[in-house]
Amino acid sequence: MVKKIKVRDMDIEYETDFRSIKYPRLEFKTGKLLLVLPKNHGEETGIIEKHKNWIYKKSLMIDMAKKETGSKKIEAKTEDDLKDFIKNTAQRFSKEPWHKIQFKKMKSKWGSCSIKKTLTFNTLLKYLPESLIEYVVFHELTHLKEKNHTERFWKHIAKKFNDFSKREKELLVYWFLIQDVSQKKQVYSQ
Ligand SMILES: [Zn+2]
Repeated sequence: MVKKIKVRDMDIEYETDFRSIKYPRLEFKTGKLLLVLPKNHGEETGIIEKHKNWIYKKSLMIDMAKKETGSKKIEAKTEDDLKDFIKNTAQRFSKEPWHKIQFKKMKSKWGSCSIKKTLTFNTLLKYLPESLIEYVVFHELTHLKEKNHTERFWKHIAKKFNDFSKREKELLVYWFLIQDVSQKKQVYSQ
């Protein structure tokens, strides 16, 4: 069920999900706020209140990203070309060994890196410019040595991609753009 809260001047929609976890957390993975709560955790306004600045900032970024989608054009690679490009890029960047690279169409992320060192890349990356695909590959490779987005993680990233926060924002813009493509809406008009 979608609920709504007001944070400053914004109406923000959110959903709640109860899972077997110890601590509540907030996610913004696909542009929608999700409250993940421990089972039998009845109280959700407290956690929203506590994180409202973060929620506000994220929501603003998402709104901006949605507005920027109009200025981007997309050209798709074939999936075979995408796979070759990603594998070559990974070879070129990596010092750490991985177990395997796999590809999947995913609904909530560009890539992931499992504990067993399997790298998974979203086949929707085929719509992205190569410079952003390279960033995603480097990002996931960096998770081989640093599981979470710690300060140390971003330091590793910055060695190669000094402009990583710009790229993270671009990825968000493309995320929304691609939602439109996969729903076969008109993407851009010129
Ligand atoms: Zn990451």
